[in-house]
Amino acid sequence: MARTRSGVDEVHILWISEGMSCDGDTVSVTAATNPAIEDVVLGLVPGLPKVHLHNKVLDYSLGGEDYLAVFRKAARGELEHPFVLVIEGSIPNEHVNGDGFWTSFGNRPDGQPKTLNEWIDELAPKAWGVVAVGTCATYGGIHAMAGNPTGCMGLADYLGWDFRSAGGLPVVNVPGCPVQPDNFMETLTWLLYQAAGLNPIIPLDEQLRPTWLFGKTVHEGCDRAGYYEQGDFALDYNSPKCQVKVGCWGPVVNCNVPKRGWMNGVGGCPNVGGICIGCTMPGFPDKFMPFMDQPPGAAVSSRLIRTYGRLIRTLRSMTNDTVSQEPRWRHDRAELTTGYDP
Ligand code: SF4
Ligand code: SF4
Ligand code: SF4
Repeated sequence: MARTRSGVDEVHILWISEGMSCDGDTVSVTAATNPAIEDVVLGLVPGLPKVHLHNKVLDYSLGGEDYLAVFRKAARGELEHPFVLVIEGSIPNEHVNGDGFWTSFGNRPDGQPKTLNEWIDELAPKAWGVVAVGTCATYGGIHAMAGNPTGCMGLADYLGWDFRSAGGLPVVNVPGCPVQPDNFMETLTWLLYQAAGLNPIIPLDEQLRPTWLFGKTVHEGCDRAGYYEQGDFALDYNSPKCQVKVGCWGPVVNCNVPKRGWMNGVGGCPNVGGICIGCTMPGFPDKFMPFMDQPPGAAVSSRLIRTYGRLIRTLRSMTNDTVSQEPRWRHDRAELTTGYDP
């Protein structure tokens, strides 16, 4: 196909959810609105390359070997267009699989299961870009917690944090359990515009997350932050007040969900009564457990802010009383008391 600009006009998205995964990120992305994945696939977003999506849940028109054909072609380096590899689920350590295997996707020519790891080894270096979707794929997530038998890990742990794709990019991490749908679609859209030659290189932080999505904490975007600042804390889950004392980790967690909501702006964990359990973070879940206990640092910070908050609330209450009264000159008496001086 003729190229109309410096970048590419068509891109395959090869999405493998055969990591240690619940497919929750694929399901989550169906709720995206900014942009919707169907709009991207249908070519309704101006300037994007034509997208061929291969995801077993979202593209169910083919099955079996027919479905695998494009993945096999890409592994042989024979795809006619560049591809973005999306991995969902954590990557098991196949060096410790005993006599079996942990997870697979189709079979090898000898009829034995082809492991996810073999697919990644073949596809990742050929991919224009490699994206880890969800916390399992980015950092290991739930399956990688202490005591797990698979030794599983995130994609960058497997490929190396200094890995570079054929397009010169490191692994792009979009964490969340599941991923916030628009966070993923916005990242994908950035990459597609970049592939088309219309965007600069995607800005990533040290944990390889898009900076504009993960640069702020939950606390900084939370509807309840005013209660925190006034030292007014919920003691159970039926309260509209700050939930730090009932297990919210928001002050130390990088996530934009309270600002963005979950689906089309609706929801957002602490905004709607759910404590933040740090599901986007590299240390999730171990470093946030036991869930629903007060975070260790919160005892100190909430004690400090409680004293300050009590004073501030009293002063604000007095000011609130004052500003709740109309000025004295608004009356119907036969005199002007506004202070007007002609
Ligand atoms: Fe499922 Fe969460 Fe893992 Fe995604 S990150 S595969 S939603 S457990
Ligand atoms: Fe911060 Fe959590 Fe309280 Fe919201 S509920 S203000 S995120 S501690
Ligand atoms: Fe996960 Fe906390 Fe963000 Fe909710 S607010 S999505 S629990 S990191």
